[in-house]
Amino acid sequence: MKVFVIIPAAGLGTRMAPVSTAKDPRPHPSKQFTDLAGTPILVHTLRRFAAVHEVTEIWMALRENEVEGFRERLRQDFADLLKRKIELVVGGEHRQQSVEHALNAITAASDDIVLVHDAVRPLVTAEIIHEVIEAATKYGAAIAGLPAVDTVKQVERTAEGAIIKATIPRASVVLAQTPQGFRYDVIRKIFDEATADGFMGTDEASLAERAGREVAVVMGSPKNIKITTPGDMELAEFYLKR
Ligand code: C5P
Repeated sequence: MKVFVIIPAAGLGTRMAPVSTAKDPRPHPSKQFTDLAGTPILVHTLRRFAAVHEVTEIWMALRENEVEGFRERLRQDFADLLKRKIELVVGGEHRQQSVEHALNAITAASDDIVLVHDAVRPLVTAEIIHEVIEAATKYGAAIAGLPAVDTVKQVERTAEGAIIKATIPRASVVLAQTPQGFRYDVIRKIFDEATADGFMGTDEASLAERAGREVAVVMGSPKNIKITTPGDMELAEFYLKR
């Protein structure tokens, strides 16, 4: 059984850094390329998967204009990583399309495992990766998730903010993280169905849910943060130092 890892890294990350505009057309690096303790965030993420022996291939989806530059950067500064099979593909307009481009590029058997992991979650641990692989093998679909510690409210958005409509029992909520892992035949089918129906989800599990598939949850970690805002960088640096 092979384990493929797909890392969508083609987002703009507009909450993190300014993007190029008509007024300021200079290219700004997207957030996954921002340095975290001196190394681009997505290289930290790559290293976490490259260190897991079950992982066979790593496929990364990048913005078209960043593919060649990143390939060169890997050769020059992170050549040790190239001992692993790491492939770069061009991503799409939405995360789901970026994942699909990589999925279309891999050659896998039905019972191989495909893990999808956000480029901007560089603190994922080998333990979480192992557990998702194990659960995906057993159940066909599994994600890392975190129990909610805060009380969760359902709200209606208003011009000024939001108004609470209901309290969602905390015990029935988990916050979805990545990796999200699937048997190849499962992820292929749910992507094909979503594309046929024009459905766009914010994670892979939502594609499985709509297809009526059970998705197992294994314990994620509060440290497995998704770097979204500049404040998250400080927290990630703090965790890395420890
Ligand atoms: O911005 P968002 O929360 O959707 O980002 C999650 C992950 O998906 C990031 O690693 C980002 O680079 C990636 N992404 C992508 N292609 C897009 C949008 C986001 O690969 N078009």
